[in-house]
Amino acid sequence: MDFIPVCEPFLNGNELKYVTEAVKTGWISSSGNYVREFEESFARYCGVKFGVAVCNGTVALHLAVVAAGIKPGDEVIIPNFTMVSTAFALCYAGATPVFIDAEPGTWNMNADAIEGKISPRTKAIMPVSIFGHPCEMERIWSLAEQYGLIVIEDAAESHGAEYKGKKTGSLADMTAFSFFSNKNLTTGEGGMVVTDNEEFYRKSTYFKNVCFPMEGPRNYRHEDIGFNYRMSNLHAALGVAQVEKANEYRALRIRNGGLYRKYLEGIPGISLQGSKSHVVHVFWMNGVLVDPERYGRTRDELMSYLQKKNIETRLFFYGMHRQPSLLKYGCDGSGSYPVTDNLTNNGFYLPSSSSLREDQISYISDAIREFHR
Ligand SMILES: *Cc1c(COP(=O)(O)O)cnc(C)c1O
Repeated sequence: MDFIPVCEPFLNGNELKYVTEAVKTGWISSSGNYVREFEESFARYCGVKFGVAVCNGTVALHLAVVAAGIKPGDEVIIPNFTMVSTAFALCYAGATPVFIDAEPGTWNMNADAIEGKISPRTKAIMPVSIFGHPCEMERIWSLAEQYGLIVIEDAAESHGAEYKGKKTGSLADMTAFSFFSNKNLTTGEGGMVVTDNEEFYRKSTYFKNVCFPMEGPRNYRHEDIGFNYRMSNLHAALGVAQVEKANEYRALRIRNGGLYRKYLEGIPGISLQGSKSHVVHVFWMNGVLVDPERYGRTRDELMSYLQKKNIETRLFFYGMHRQPSLLKYGCDGSGSYPVTDNLTNNGFYLPSSSSLREDQISYISDAIREFHR
């Protein structure tokens, strides 16, 4: 079997045509039409009014945090099992991330544990749809309402996912997406903040563009310290083409998630991320959790075996409570996070590209089955 990468971009529509168009017309900066078109089409896809395109997902998170008015000293509740950008976005604003352990099953932030961590300094909750599975949003909305908190979703892994019939992007006050090359929709590097809230939209637009005045002449007089987080028209050209095919690409990811579940069923000590029945899970990554006792091999042994079989894999996230960077910053790493620790110690991703074929999934699954002892 040829090498199977853990993830590769899928560019199967008008991507080349639109990028070529951008180059031919000379519109390559953020001033081109594709930026506006991408913001509009992706916001529409999410079911909300506004989109603000930026240059990556990490700064999309930071921009949302700034637009929400989160300041030094504020606390924000985030999952402990996530990519570090969720926490870094808060550090950039001088705020303090507060961690919630994952729940077994979906591996998402455990909604039952949030209330115990709300303090008078808490300003927001940042749920993350881990690997494409939305969190228990109804619980999060009711806590947000009760305590007057803003909800900012990190949907970097869940383009097109749904919770009770509503898409990610429409499940929070603001939602940050990434369009990095391995995400379900991609512009190579890219991100977007989407929202239905006009004030958040205006603030995001303002801070993204070094706080140039939104009205009147461009007189180079700046009232606030802003950022240059603009997306180029070249990247947005890719984005417009990706959104045209979003449903098709989503269907491939969902199909592959289903195939892995079928082929890996019943292997002792191998479990996959659970899916709740009221969500549409979009399977950004197909994660595997190894129970070394029951599988008879460790996670690391299995990863090396798969590597020999030309199958690329990748480790799971490292818990936020153990990140040296966050501990140096002053985050509270005490307390126990047993579900995250188990995921970090025993979890890894299988190849998960949209373009993955059924024979590859069956080959990968056979390798995992035959290595069991
Ligand atoms: C990928 C990812 C990000 C960051 O996106 P970049 O575009 O790489 O900056 C943030 N949060 C989560 C959960 C991610 O998976």
